[in-house]
Amino acid sequence: MLSKPSVKKRNMKRTLLRIWSYMAEEKGLFVLVVIMVIVSSVLSLAGPYLMGVAVDSLISGWNGSQLLTMLVWLVIIYAAQSGTVFLQGYWMIGIAQNVVFTMRNALFSHLQKLPISFFQKRQHGELMSRLTNDMENVSRTLNSAVIQIITSTLTLAGTVAVMLWLSPLLTVLTLTIVPVMFAGMKWITNRTGKYFKEQQRTLGDLNGYIEETLTGQRIVKMYSQEERVIESFEEKNAALKTSSYWAQTYSGFIPKLMNMLNNVSFAIIIGIGGILAIKEIVSIGVIVTFVTYSRQFTRPLNDLANQFNMILSAIAGADRVFQVLDEEVEGKDEGSAYEISSLKGEIVFDSVSFSYEKEVATLKNVSFHVSPGQTVAIVGPTGAGKTTIISLLTRFYDADEGAIFVDGMDITKVKRDSLRKNMAFVLQDSVLFQTNVMENIRYGRLDASDDEVVEAAKTANAHEFIMKLPRGYDTVLDAEGGGISHGQCQLLAIARAILANPALLILDEATSSIDTITEMKITDALNKLMQGRTSFVIAHRLNTIQNADSILVLKDGRIIEQGSDEELLKLSGFYADLVKTQRQKGVI
Ligand code: ADP
Repeated sequence: MLSKPSVKKRNMKRTLLRIWSYMAEEKGLFVLVVIMVIVSSVLSLAGPYLMGVAVDSLISGWNGSQLLTMLVWLVIIYAAQSGTVFLQGYWMIGIAQNVVFTMRNALFSHLQKLPISFFQKRQHGELMSRLTNDMENVSRTLNSAVIQIITSTLTLAGTVAVMLWLSPLLTVLTLTIVPVMFAGMKWITNRTGKYFKEQQRTLGDLNGYIEETLTGQRIVKMYSQEERVIESFEEKNAALKTSSYWAQTYSGFIPKLMNMLNNVSFAIIIGIGGILAIKEIVSIGVIVTFVTYSRQFTRPLNDLANQFNMILSAIAGADRVFQVLDEEVEGKDEGSAYEISSLKGEIVFDSVSFSYEKEVATLKNVSFHVSPGQTVAIVGPTGAGKTTIISLLTRFYDADEGAIFVDGMDITKVKRDSLRKNMAFVLQDSVLFQTNVMENIRYGRLDASDDEVVEAAKTANAHEFIMKLPRGYDTVLDAEGGGISHGQCQLLAIARAILANPALLILDEATSSIDTITEMKITDALNKLMQGRTSFVIAHRLNTIQNADSILVLKDGRIIEQGSDEELLKLSGFYADLVKTQRQKGVI
């Protein structure tokens, strides 16, 4: 069971105000909607009133033509009311779609600006759920609930006013059910709120899990984890079922409660109204009007109540969207940050320390110097901090202590994107986008011409295999790299980096076995790529870095050895041991 209600009142108010701030952009249309709502509410009051008048007049002896005139008026009133209802719905859909359109754009562009650390803490599917399900909830609710709320409020107020005017006594009697109704509603909504929020959360959780297991299907199968995955899924699915079950159950009580109270008020009006009519305190016509009003009086509340679950789930959805929007974007560049156009490629790490979590230091006092055009290899056991060094260099994170310089400039004083424009990556899992080969390579430099892309592919030894693909450069790749091999994927990434022509290169050496011919092509392409650029290579197989100008040996976040292959072997230290072990195991 759940511990405490999650849609807190204060939160709810804030979320509503925030949705309103988006709607305020559509003021013009909104005013039109409100006018239509007012007109239709007045018309819906006029109908029953005229009917009451008609009944009384009939009793007092109206003729046929008077009755016909009344009938024509009633037809006009009801037709006009339908017209205004149609228009308000039509315009409201416009508002709702614009609001959701703006929110979706805001959310997506905000996501692009969030730091890497944000994404590392979250499942992608769960975030996608916010962009899709939660947005959809907001949209559906705005389409209908806003009109419903205004109509209901106006109809309620109008009905009570006319009722009071016709017969204060009958009005008071009809209204006796209101406190009961509110108490019931309060009891129910106290419970529904938390379950709706829980429902959205568990749905996001489930979506996240589905995404994770679908993209990781290969691993699931390889480690025969199907059963465990199914079990976890069933747990998450059960959590969703429970929260949905309670959310629906409690909100299902609302219309039933309303219906029951409606019948009670009906009985009161007919019973007591009958007695009053016999005593000639009120006319039969007033009772006719009251009976219709009493339904009209509970109907808006009933409608609101029916909408309540939707409204609550939309508020919960909007709240989840706003949570992401409130996440701090990647640290803004200082106003005085420089824009760098081209770099020579000198890198200095000066006593850099860094930790992801406060208690655990990941990098400790790391210092090294790289001259322009040099190749630096970073080696060390898994978890030593190799990737972290790169993450600091790219400013995915900033150092806690010490400083990093490129061409003598402190990188915290350089604009992030101008720094990153001077870097290119060739990673183990090269990321492809779901578009054709041409565009995938062009990602390296968006203004490159087709000829330049082909040229880069040729330099990267990728042209040959691309031409053998079913539609050459127009072949659409899928995001997981299906259709081409891992090695070919790397060649595309190299082509992308060649096109980008950066001063700094970051290479994460492939560990997976690639056929010898492709490996030779990769090595050759990489050598061409690395020429004249400062390159960082995260190396796993030590034979590939023998020619590196400098090798940094990392262990537990510290550089324990530093030098060329030859120098380090002479030291007979950690590096020499690593090389020996790899030779023995036949890795190299
Ligand atoms: P390597 O690349 O050498 O395998 P990493 O630089 O990835 O090592 O990681 C160094 C240490 O920092 C590891 O102990 C790892 O668990 C930790 N670490 C890496 N990324 C994060 C993160 N986003 N949050 C917290 N700890 C992290």
